[in-house]
Amino acid sequence: MRITFILCFCLLVGFNSYAQQLPRIKILATGGTIAGKGASADRSAYTSGEVPVQDLIAAVPGIEKLATITGEQISNVGSQDMSVDIWMKLNKRINEIFKNNEADGVVITHGTDTQEETAYFLSLTLRYDKPVIITGSMRPSTGISADGPKNIFDAVSVAASKQAAHSGVLLVFNENILTGRDAVKTSTTHLNAFTAPNNGPIGQVYDGKVFLYEKETRKSNKETPFDITGLTSLPRVDVVELYADAPATGIEASIAAGAKGIVTGGLGNGNLNKANVTAVEDAIKKGIIVARASRVPTGRVTLLDETDDAKLGTIVADDLNPQKARVLLMLGLTKTSDSKQLQQYFFEY
Ligand code: ASP
Repeated sequence: MRITFILCFCLLVGFNSYAQQLPRIKILATGGTIAGKGASADRSAYTSGEVPVQDLIAAVPGIEKLATITGEQISNVGSQDMSVDIWMKLNKRINEIFKNNEADGVVITHGTDTQEETAYFLSLTLRYDKPVIITGSMRPSTGISADGPKNIFDAVSVAASKQAAHSGVLLVFNENILTGRDAVKTSTTHLNAFTAPNNGPIGQVYDGKVFLYEKETRKSNKETPFDITGLTSLPRVDVVELYADAPATGIEASIAAGAKGIVTGGLGNGNLNKANVTAVEDAIKKGIIVARASRVPTGRVTLLDETDDAKLGTIVADDLNPQKARVLLMLGLTKTSDSKQLQQYFFEY
């Protein structure tokens, strides 16, 4: 009896100290296909954001060997319905988690549609040098060979790795590690849905092993000036995409709606056709900041190429796509409406 008691006690102490050695990873679930459910094993008519966080965790075999996992539901939406409100909630909760030392790293599960925007928003606004990893899946949890459990396993592997601590927010998908700034969804259906069109992934992860072979090159986390503590909304910034013979109705509607900034998804090197040059001149006269991005997936938009930014008063989004440029411009406008300073943000962050 006494020996059994001592044995149990030792096993318990041993188990506890083993568990204590594991990093503590908090999974914050926001919804998406990774939490999607459907009646059949293919993707027809499934609904995003149905499965709760505890079930997502329970579906990942071996996750308990990587880390001590806890989960929280932040929202449960398809990321086509991601909002600035949810971004703010996420930012606040992650700051709290690290401030109160509730976890050593955070993994966010998220729909893929707007994952690149959330990743960039968090990389610009979080204040801690701790791993924050975002992931999702292309197949719903009820689909054949659902990729969600594997992506969560890989994301937790990266979050639990000391290497990821100073790398800013990372996006882990299909065994690739990408920076939150550069990751872009480039396939509507393939499992390898994310790439960084200009510079590629910065690492790989498989079987719990993490290989980071590059660093984030732009300033992020503690180095950015964007502190959203105390804010409840962000200035309105719209995106207007251009095409052959595009009328100026998009820009005109944004002006009428009271936008503080407009990002153009321009042609080639961010060019605007004549109708939209006139509309942009009008927007700038009204004090709206206009940033030229491009609808072309690679390369950058450069100052004073075919478009005379000095004369027109526009700034350029550098290598950010329009939806990411919108995130930076919204945050930039919380600090200043000086176009020179805003332009500098685009070259630094
Ligand atoms: N519409 C889904 C979402 O973004 C797609 C996905 O997660 O893959 O939530």
